[in-house]
Amino acid sequence: MMKSSLEGKVVLVTGASKGIGKGIARIFAKLGAKVLLVARGAQEGERAATELRECGGTAAFQPGDVTNLASMQRAAAAAVEQYGGLDILCANAGIFPSAALADLNEVQWDAVFDVNVKGTLFSVQASLPYLQKSDAGRVIVTSSITGPITGLPGWSHYAATKAAQLGFIRTAAIELAKYNVTINAVLPGNIVTEGLQDLGEQYLNQMLATIPLKRLGTTDDVGYAVAFLASREAGFITGQTIVVDGGQVLPESLQAVSN
Ligand code: NAP
Repeated sequence: MMKSSLEGKVVLVTGASKGIGKGIARIFAKLGAKVLLVARGAQEGERAATELRECGGTAAFQPGDVTNLASMQRAAAAAVEQYGGLDILCANAGIFPSAALADLNEVQWDAVFDVNVKGTLFSVQASLPYLQKSDAGRVIVTSSITGPITGLPGWSHYAATKAAQLGFIRTAAIELAKYNVTINAVLPGNIVTEGLQDLGEQYLNQMLATIPLKRLGTTDDVGYAVAFLASREAGFITGQTIVVDGGQVLPESLQAVSN
């Protein structure tokens, strides 16, 4: 049987205490990687790391806030201290509050940009000194279909951040190439997470009706796409994206998904 190329690799996942980040951490642990879970809330984060260890994985939690560079530097250093290096960063932490464009204020705008865009930059900057030392450094950013491909009323600020992440990776890919570090993004559609469930049943049902594969996504669906981009086999792919959405971006009309 082929061994996973991720076995023994050290992975830092931001926003890993729940939702997609927790799912990404679970897939890496399952494939034999050593995983450092990062989020602000220690209770949920510790619980998520404990769950992974109880399933036989190698995992630990480190509190960290992606909007604070020093905090992310401490998190990256903790991965190195605990596991001896850092090979893979999953810059996943993100928030998605909604606000109609007419009411959107500066505080709301800045809050979403702080976490989703500045947080991506700080996560990469903090990890870079260690990723450079890896023989196959990898960064995988969690963007979204919302912004890069689709539009969704109420989420103009969020959509702008998710498109900004793609602008970021395209230039970062060129700058990081000299260190043999790749950077790519996954673009999830509607994935069942605590954050998505907070948007309510009506939202979830409306989304479900637009997905050709007729189900919402799971965090495993995203986790396996991220694991592929992190693998040795994906070493010649950089500055690219994988859409993980059950075909949601494809229909040209309601009729196309009505059967
Ligand atoms: P979620 O269930 O709300 O989880 C968010 C995670 O991020 C939590 O672990 C949270 O923990 C952490 N976090 C929030 N602010 C942080 C900060 N400043 N520093 C560090 N960690 C922080 O969200 P999700 O649905 O899994 O979404 C995760 C990512 O996927 C986001 O980037 C989102 O844009 C993207 N995405 C999600 C969907 C979807 O359908 N769910 C679709 C497309 C894209 P703390 O609050 O304790 O810090």
